[in-house]
Amino acid sequence: MIKWVLVLDGTIRIMVFDDSVRKLKCDKCGTRFKYPARLEKHKEIAHNKKKEKCRACGKEFHSVENLRKHKKICKARV
Ligand SMILES: [Zn+2]
Ligand SMILES: [Zn+2]
Repeated sequence: MIKWVLVLDGTIRIMVFDDSVRKLKCDKCGTRFKYPARLEKHKEIAHNKKKEKCRACGKEFHSVENLRKHKKICKARV
């Protein structure tokens, strides 16, 4: 982390400049991360909700509700 101290008109300003942290920002919610792996993990958990899969035919659905609807019409039964 690099700290820049600016003296301007008698006032001292400290700017914290951390490029790596700025880059690792979730574009969806703005949460910052120190490591790329953590950002990826966060995106996976917070924004890419696990797909619901039909156990009979293997079709994937974005919501439990859609899967439930599908199950009623799914012909590939176990
Ligand atoms: Zn996020
Ligand atoms: Zn199915």
